[in-house]
Amino acid sequence: MNTQSDPIDDEMVGSIDPAAVRASLEALRAELLDSAPDIDAEVFRTRSDVSDGSGETEHLVVAEQKDMTARVDALTERAVAEIDDALARLDAGTYGRCTDCGRAIPAERLEAVPAAATCMDCAATRSRGRGLV
Ligand SMILES: [Zn+2]
Repeated sequence: MNTQSDPIDDEMVGSIDPAAVRASLEALRAELLDSAPDIDAEVFRTRSDVSDGSGETEHLVVAEQKDMTARVDALTERAVAEIDDALARLDAGTYGRCTDCGRAIPAERLEAVPAAATCMDCAATRSRGRGLV
């Protein structure tokens, strides 16, 4: 918790306000975690007609909706993990620095993608290598 007194002095990204970045990352994170229960609630509403109110059906419904939202959950989990990583880098004082090449990530990119771990060049290289968009 004493990282604040140990700033990076080379290639420091001057325009980054750690408190503002943290706030936007945490807002994004909350948004992501919020969206998953919304989907669950939607599924639950549709399925609740068949519930007999015993409570046992609810477990069955939960199992079914888990399957239905698995894809969304995986995407959400990945996005949340990326945000957690970004928050960890913020704590470590390495936020705003490309995790691949170590260069400063342009402020515009961080504004557009606050959880970005790499610069545009490395992101392009990564997506080519992994076949991701
Ligand atoms: Zn890079």
